[in-house]
Amino acid sequence: MLKTDILIIGSGISGLFFAMKTAKKRPDLSIVIMTKESAQNTNTQLAQGGIAVVTDLIKDSFSKHIHDTLRSGGGLCDKEIVNMVIKQAPERLQELIEIGTSFDKNEKGQWDLGLEGGHSQHRILHHKDSSGLEIEQKLLKIIRKMPNIELLENHLVIDLNTEVKRNKTICTGAFFYEKKHNRIKYIRTRSVVLSTGGCGQLFENTTNPKIATGDGIAMAARAGAEIVDMQYIQFHPTALFTGKKNPLFLISEAVRGFGAHIVNEDGKRFLFKYDIRGELATRDMVSNAISKELQLSGKDHVYLDCRHLNAAEFYAHFPVIAAHCNELGIKPEKDLIPVVPAAHYQCGGIKVDENGATSIKNLYAVGECARTGLHGKNRLASNSLLEALVFAHQASENVDRTIAEFTFSNKILIPKFPKAEQTNDYYAFNILKNELQKLVTAFYTSEERDADLAFEKIKLLNNSAIALVKDHEITIPFIEFSNMIATSLIIIKQCKEAANKQMC
Ligand SMILES: Cc1cc2nc3c(=O)[nH]c(=O)nc-3n(C[C@H](O)[C@H](O)[C@H](O)COP(=O)(O)OP(=O)(O)OC[C@H]3O[C@@H](n4cnc5c(N)ncnc54)[C@H](O)[C@@H]3O)c2cc1C
Repeated sequence: MLKTDILIIGSGISGLFFAMKTAKKRPDLSIVIMTKESAQNTNTQLAQGGIAVVTDLIKDSFSKHIHDTLRSGGGLCDKEIVNMVIKQAPERLQELIEIGTSFDKNEKGQWDLGLEGGHSQHRILHHKDSSGLEIEQKLLKIIRKMPNIELLENHLVIDLNTEVKRNKTICTGAFFYEKKHNRIKYIRTRSVVLSTGGCGQLFENTTNPKIATGDGIAMAARAGAEIVDMQYIQFHPTALFTGKKNPLFLISEAVRGFGAHIVNEDGKRFLFKYDIRGELATRDMVSNAISKELQLSGKDHVYLDCRHLNAAEFYAHFPVIAAHCNELGIKPEKDLIPVVPAAHYQCGGIKVDENGATSIKNLYAVGECARTGLHGKNRLASNSLLEALVFAHQASENVDRTIAEFTFSNKILIPKFPKAEQTNDYYAFNILKNELQKLVTAFYTSEERDADLAFEKIKLLNNSAIALVKDHEITIPFIEFSNMIATSLIIIKQCKEAANKQMC
């Protein structure tokens, strides 16, 4: 049985930033990071647009960024949290810069600030169009050198362990699947940090990579943590439409901020019919407008028109996007780019306080898996990387203050899990995953959602999954699929509850 002071689950920006800060401040604590695939395989590394921070105090201000965030969140943001995150942003940014993260500057040596939908000012710091990759790589580089951090790749955490002490539920460890030796093991800890990212893989069209199966939500829910606002899934308006599905390549919001237009089959702009901000409206507005336009036209995609933009500047700002389009034979300077809305970000999640603490003692949630109150029902572009940094900092400070209260549990736990087995059932589970994605997408995008029918259909899929694994066997596709089922059920239940509330 392994033992560590702090277990971090996930190696995206939130988990790594938490690890770095805590390891620096508390060299006496041992930290283990487990991640289910290779460390870099995260949503973080795909982030293009960048990170929203007020740096220009002449044209911009904290109050403008706060206003934009609240407006985008549709009245459901927690104002104190918004205030805290936006005012803390410059300090957290500075910490990224100190470890060598580079953000683009203009010829005057000032930050080359991007503009994105819903922002009233240019305030997005970026590294070309691969901001997330730059951050991920710099954090990983430093993490790998820190003596009190052990980074364990290909370690899939299956479930959290909790104990009840003096009427309080406390998280005391986790069960995990070690892929290399194909066995399930247990790790005892004094603190656990969930930084498992989102659940975009529940949908047919998504920008999220294969790892985004909602594991953290499912694990936290099974452990009894409070999960809220899962009915708010953000669709990004401009994922590249190629006919091939899942994940779809993203065409960053920054491209519209740079001046690109969205046009229909006839080459006409239509967004102003729906919102006076046109291309620069918030993501929910633009995605809904595109969906309505597609319903009217019966087509399956619209287009992003970059042909009027300066081609040299476009290629310099968006080298990754341009290269990807070119590989598919699309030249943004002369061709329209086919785009479609795709599931992109989970606005709700594991409910946490201002320190990233969940409703279970010793269990923290940071990054996309957490519901902090920053985003309300619709995250403002480029506020996600920022939220991950701020809450990783807050949680790190809190762990530092409180970890002395917690000793290792003396209970020797015998894993209740069945034996692990090498599996060749990926193919069968892929079929079930596709079915689940179709079902969740149809439910979520329907104007008349029938939650009870969706529950029934999901139950059938679950039965098929159980039939696929013999009762002595537990496999990776089974674990991930079970988490997808659990997270889908939470989304559908919370959609139903929200609809019922609206009717009251
Ligand atoms: C294409 C794309 C572009 C984006 N662009 C931007 C942008 O420009 N600006 C912005 O602010 N936001 C952007 N976002 C959103 C942002 O990137 C994510 O919200 C953020 O990176 C999430 O970071 P995270 O640390 O919470 O999780 P992630 O980076 O998703 O990392 C999750 C980690 O958890 C691990 N994990 C999951 N389950 C388990 C398990 N059971 N056991 C072990 N490990 C597990 C995964 O393997 C992974 O390492 C973008 C997202 C996408 C998909």
